[in-house]
Amino acid sequence: MLHRSDFLRRMATRTATTVAFLVAGTVPAQAQAQAPAADVPLGFSLASMDRKANPRQNFYRYAVGGWLDRTAIPASESDVGGFTALAANLDARLIKLVRDAADAKAEPGSPRQQIGDYWRAAMDLKRLDDLGLKPLQADLDRVAALGLPAAAPVLGELSARLQLAYGVSPLVNAFVGTDLKDSKSNLLLLVAGQQSLTPDEYAKPEGQPVRNLYLTYISRMLQTTGMAPADADAGARAVLAMEAEISASQLTPLQGRDPAFIYNLMTLAQAQVLIPSVDLAAILQALGVPGDVRIQVRDLAALKTIHKVVTTRPAEEVRMLLRWHVLTSRTSALGQPWRGLDEAFSLQRRGLQSPPPREREIVKAMGLQLSHPLSRLYVDAFFPDSTRREITSMVGHIKDEFAQRLRANRWLDETTRAAALDKLSRIDIQVGYPQQWIDFSSVVVRADDHIGNQQRADEFLLRRRFAQLGKPVVVERFADAPFTTPISVNAGYSPQTNSIDITAAIVQPPFYVPGADAAVNYCTIGAVIGHEITHGFDSNGRRYGPAGNLRDWWTPKASAEFKKRTDVLVRQYGGFTLLPGLKHNGELTLTENTADLGGITLANAALHRHLAGAPQPRIDGLTTDQRCFVAWAQMWAYKARPERIRLLAATDYHANATLRGFAPLVHLDAFHKAFGTRPGDAMWRAPSQRVLIW
Ligand SMILES: [Zn+2]
Repeated sequence: MLHRSDFLRRMATRTATTVAFLVAGTVPAQAQAQAPAADVPLGFSLASMDRKANPRQNFYRYAVGGWLDRTAIPASESDVGGFTALAANLDARLIKLVRDAADAKAEPGSPRQQIGDYWRAAMDLKRLDDLGLKPLQADLDRVAALGLPAAAPVLGELSARLQLAYGVSPLVNAFVGTDLKDSKSNLLLLVAGQQSLTPDEYAKPEGQPVRNLYLTYISRMLQTTGMAPADADAGARAVLAMEAEISASQLTPLQGRDPAFIYNLMTLAQAQVLIPSVDLAAILQALGVPGDVRIQVRDLAALKTIHKVVTTRPAEEVRMLLRWHVLTSRTSALGQPWRGLDEAFSLQRRGLQSPPPREREIVKAMGLQLSHPLSRLYVDAFFPDSTRREITSMVGHIKDEFAQRLRANRWLDETTRAAALDKLSRIDIQVGYPQQWIDFSSVVVRADDHIGNQQRADEFLLRRRFAQLGKPVVVERFADAPFTTPISVNAGYSPQTNSIDITAAIVQPPFYVPGADAAVNYCTIGAVIGHEITHGFDSNGRRYGPAGNLRDWWTPKASAEFKKRTDVLVRQYGGFTLLPGLKHNGELTLTENTADLGGITLANAALHRHLAGAPQPRIDGLTTDQRCFVAWAQMWAYKARPERIRLLAATDYHANATLRGFAPLVHLDAFHKAFGTRPGDAMWRAPSQRVLIW
């Protein structure tokens, strides 16, 4: 399972930071592939409503109550919702495609051969069991032989080796990124290793149960290498202490996307001062990266802390940390007992009773490592051109609507308005899949080498990016796994390329229903499109100009007006309580909440422009606007286990999905008019308290 360092793995492949519509992992490979909760209709449905509930008091209940009453979270899942059901359907299709590929003869290096052989190797559990720790042995030996204190070049070489073999190094990672202030230039990112648990799980009293599970997990894993239980227990405690120390020094999730914290340009010599014990030049040499590149260090304090840990902890503890990294980074590609121990930890941590089917785990891993080959098979089989055309046309309508509203906007001054219109006109939106696929044909995929397949695919993606250093940025679309590849149930805006990818996988129920009435489709997929477009103008996206460069194009007056409005959203979303004692974080989720408000506002307005004032009949007793807002809320039909709610509350930029279902609506006059809310109603919000940003 990929619970470790997803963030860093992602950095190996992407060209730019994408803001995704859904958190990755909200659509996990966790439901039974063949049984996506049969009584959960995907897409708009009267049966999902509770029409006895009063929409003026509890709109979410009114729109989604029928679904809430009939839906239980499956034992193998952390949460359930329309998008988890879609993910289950999607995975069932992907599993069928890869099984067919595994049965077919295909040309070496073709997507079908790679997918088929990856699958055969991954599903050959007997072979994985027989191999035991053999695939890791050379690296375990390398770590065991490490004399400490080591010369800095030795640690540098080891760090590079771990990044190449395991995707991520626990010491220093090198990736390629786009310069935030010059979107035409690549630079080298230096990033500290990331930890397995969340900062809260390491530090807070509520994290103690997870820490206990983690200690047991580490100890048992260490014992599989022949360590005595008492030594393994001590080793586990040391690993936890070191990881907690590093975690405490790292940027918070909010700081991690703030250029003021992460945009630290320096020379190699300047970066080296942060972490003298790990030779950076040795890392770059081992990775084949020239030493004279421009460098951005994301997290200064984390590198300093890693230096401190490596130089002040006893040698045996440092080796233990590295050994732990080797053991735990590719557990899904190992046999028993390693896979079982990892699975047990992951299940208990998330409060689940049964593991997900391996088939779904494999498809998920393939989606990261062979994203485009698998996507090509999917698009050929399941993504009709008619859908692409229809969504592309809707994109045009929503964009036009935004332009109209920018022209009519009352709080923007003329200078900022002109710049905003320019930026909007240059947003490049593509639907479904890229015009140019990444060529994976050089990746050797064998039917008998699962861990080797994983390593070669990861290394291919990493080296491919390194080869782009020093050259002008080539924008790659639908390439940010697992967020915006065609098989991601998601959509993403990239501020650095000022572009939006609407994936093939999201353009189906519950986000889009071919043939449904306009109210339903505008206020679901249309709102998704609007959400992404307004990301270019949220409190993060607005810091980038039309060409994707970090620069302030706002007058102070417009900035102040914008902030006045987003402050209301921070207070509103910060006022919700998710679990006893657990407040929702209005700051962390601000950009997404701004985009949700923008998305449904644009979608509703574009819907009316599309209908051009023609009288609309009620359908099933509901007016056009009523159907619009019910469809929006039903898109967010959601239930989650407390463990999941807590994890997401600490780390996710998106609001809790239930809140997304109703919280933006109370700012829309059209919503209040549609349901006749009055002062005193729970859903009432006085006009003076409503926020209209776009
Ligand atoms: Zn978003």
